[in-house]
Amino acid sequence: MEWKASGISCIQVGGRYVPLKTLWLKDRWGQKKRFRVKTVLDLRNSKHGFLLPWSQLARDEKGRIGALIVGAHHSGWLRIGSSRKFLPYLFVSLDALARKVRKKLLVPLDYELIEEEDSILAREKEICSYYIASKRSNLFHEPGCWQAKRIKDKYRIVFRTRKEALSSGYIPHKICGG
Ligand SMILES: [Zn+2]
Repeated sequence: MEWKASGISCIQVGGRYVPLKTLWLKDRWGQKKRFRVKTVLDLRNSKHGFLLPWSQLARDEKGRIGALIVGAHHSGWLRIGSSRKFLPYLFVSLDALARKVRKKLLVPLDYELIEEEDSILAREKEICSYYIASKRSNLFHEPGCWQAKRIKDKYRIVFRTRKEALSSGYIPHKICGG
């Protein structure tokens, strides 16, 4: 997936925009609750919240993927529930999103879910450009695997694709997935 600068430091965005009405966030007692979210275009007249905020997949500097919530058309401010605070944007974990919104956002991404503390984020699956095997075993590895790193040069075989490794009779190492 292609990631672009979001205008916010350390956060890149990708994929399409999905409008949303609510977010599951913790209240001040730490309980997860559903809050309405609104775009407020004019802070002096905060009742005009007709436009639904937008969400888009967002990735932080550690590669953790959640969603960035901004005002519709990148304008205005966000209002969460009946709070009197107005936010320019909000980075949320995937479990803050309604299921339908989350599904729509994740369509273009090849991902795996990661759980951190009590929030759910995603990580993009890395596309491995080559695989390593040893002449002395029948396993093949991703280059980052500790077992791959221990293979001595004289026994080392490199395959450009999984298919190549499989058709040469090698099987994927269970730990790294090959
Ligand atoms: Zn391995």
